[in-house]
Amino acid sequence: MRDIEKVVKRFREAGLKITPQRLSIFNLLQRNRTHPSADDIYREVLKVHPSISFTTVYKTLQTLRDMGELQELSINPERSHFDPDMSEHAHTFCRSCKQIGDLEIAPETHLLKLPNVPDSFEVHSVQVHAVGLCGECR
Ligand SMILES: [Zn+2]
Ligand SMILES: [Zn+2]
Repeated sequence: MRDIEKVVKRFREAGLKITPQRLSIFNLLQRNRTHPSADDIYREVLKVHPSISFTTVYKTLQTLRDMGELQELSINPERSHFDPDMSEHAHTFCRSCKQIGDLEIAPETHLLKLPNVPDSFEVHSVQVHAVGLCGECR
């Protein structure tokens, strides 16, 4: 996710209103490394905006994802998690506590340059994750 001012500009250009609720969501996501689920974000925003609906939070996350400001991670079979870090990186997923961690990848490893992808196919994202048990759960 880029700077909040840039995200705000893109929302305005798309004809979307910037509400205090939406700004709170942007603020929560900026530089957030915890890979929160929509529910995690909803519960946090609720502390500041007690009348916000889950639908508002979810739709804002989907808009950010569609704009390419947010990655939706389909690692946890139970729910999606969101990652504002759009740089190419992999993840760890603990089966027990469901924590998602960041895994740096070597700069020479180009995850998006998969061999054998047909020329006619346009790749939007590639997700790589290691599933297992974290140090604490072992
Ligand atoms: Zn764990
Ligand atoms: Zn990540």
